Amino acid sequence: MICPKCGYQSKPRSTGPFSASHHLHGHLATIAASLGYHMSEMKAAMKEDCPEWPRVMILGKSVPISEADATSVVEAAAIEWCHVRAAEYNIKLVESYDIL
Ligand SMILES: [Zn+2]
Repeated sequence: MICPKCGYQSKPRSTGPFSASHHLHGHLATIAASLGYHMSEMKAAMKEDCPEWPRVMILGKSVPISEADATSVVEAAAIEWCHVRAAEYNIKLVESYDIL
């Protein structure tokens, strides 16, 4: 996708049902609700704890990159992070193949 105003070219993203992004967000929402946290808090915790999530230096501070720049490989690692955390806390995650 190329922005018609500024010319910035972003990577094509897969979203919607059955995408990695949908998979990740569904699991983060389930874990957050199960543990009593907000989705934004759970997502921040995942980004801090998932070793594969890249970081960028902003104003001298290392912060996790935006999901907009996360590759499918990074998202796959984040999804696995969710699977492991859910198992540790005995949280039942709903997989897309469960609802087909
Ligand atoms: Zn899953």
